[in-house]
Amino acid sequence: KVLRVAILGLGSYGTRVADAMQTCKRAKLVGAISGTPTKLKEWQTKYNIPAKNCYSYDNFDQIKNNKDIDAVYVITPNGLHRDQVIRVAKAGKHAICEKPMAINAQQGQQMIDACQAANVRLLVGYRMHFEPKTLEVIRMRQAGEFGKIKFFQGLSGFTIGDPKQWRLNKELAGGGAMMDIGIYSINGARYMVGEEPVWVTAQETKTDPVKFKEGVDETILFQMGFPSGAVASCLSTYSMNGLDKFYLNGEKGFAEMQPSTGYGPIKGQTHKGELNQPHITHQTVQMDEMAAIIFDNKKPEVPVDGQEGLRDLKIIDAIFLAAKTGKKVELKA
Ligand code: NAD
Repeated sequence: KVLRVAILGLGSYGTRVADAMQTCKRAKLVGAISGTPTKLKEWQTKYNIPAKNCYSYDNFDQIKNNKDIDAVYVITPNGLHRDQVIRVAKAGKHAICEKPMAINAQQGQQMIDACQAANVRLLVGYRMHFEPKTLEVIRMRQAGEFGKIKFFQGLSGFTIGDPKQWRLNKELAGGGAMMDIGIYSINGARYMVGEEPVWVTAQETKTDPVKFKEGVDETILFQMGFPSGAVASCLSTYSMNGLDKFYLNGEKGFAEMQPSTGYGPIKGQTHKGELNQPHITHQTVQMDEMAAIIFDNKKPEVPVDGQEGLRDLKIIDAIFLAAKTGKKVELKA
């Protein structure tokens, strides 16, 4: 069975997903939702989408009556995810939502509740959870090849441009670099170490308070502690170039990846040699796998459900609190 998907939010990442879906085997782009009628026309031609599967932000609740669409993939600014996913759920369609799933844990929980009540699936666009080199490192860790895990380092950042973009608007972004790119180090620490953190500490620095307003983080250094005693040290920033590196250290070996979460090819090595799994288009594999998760109840190696999205949001809430108060914040394991 093929997963018939409508994309909501036809921006730069929405377009990347649409392009990647053209080579999917089990997922098909069949619909589009946008506030811009000209973009809908463009997408109809470019991706062969029927006009009857196109909606605006005002009328997309009517998708409820459209038997030709199974799921809606929400790819809009973070601050809009909660309300849009809830509308998708109420329309009886499966919801796929971009990361961060929402702008705080409370919103994330509301989305999970709405999807549960509507009996639809909620999946989060964690494309790295299907990336072959990443999965190989996870497999090696599970097989004990690194021994007891002691340390993870995650560096996630880039220099952000246009100060007027939504990514620098607190209401639409929910924060700054942490929501956008720092989340890769949080999520990566969790799947590389294979545990959930029980505490965080964090320090924030801001060199440009005009560009990075109140509530929009420029740079945050943060640390996490795991039940086994493993620790993580991470950097999230909007003002350094090309930071995209993971390092995992265990008693018997290590893995390092750079780039670690970009669109690829991902590159990396372990104490046993270079990682040589094939490069795949992340979003193509992600959508095929999501079809299997929804229709065959397939369990991915690393979860991509609402609970997974919520875990990252709880950690982000704790990091913001730790940065603000200067105190260590405990998390429930
Ligand atoms: P973008 O600015 O390129 O696109 C956002 C889209 O939302 C645009 O089409 C815009 O018209 C629309 N939109 C609707 N209401 C809006 C509003 N009030 N303000 C601004 N735009 C509005 O952004 P993007 O890079 O495509 O990011 C969209 C989402 O995808 C974000 O949640 C982001 O974190 C996520 N994303 C994920 C990845 C990934 O690798 N998984 C990569 C990039 C972006």
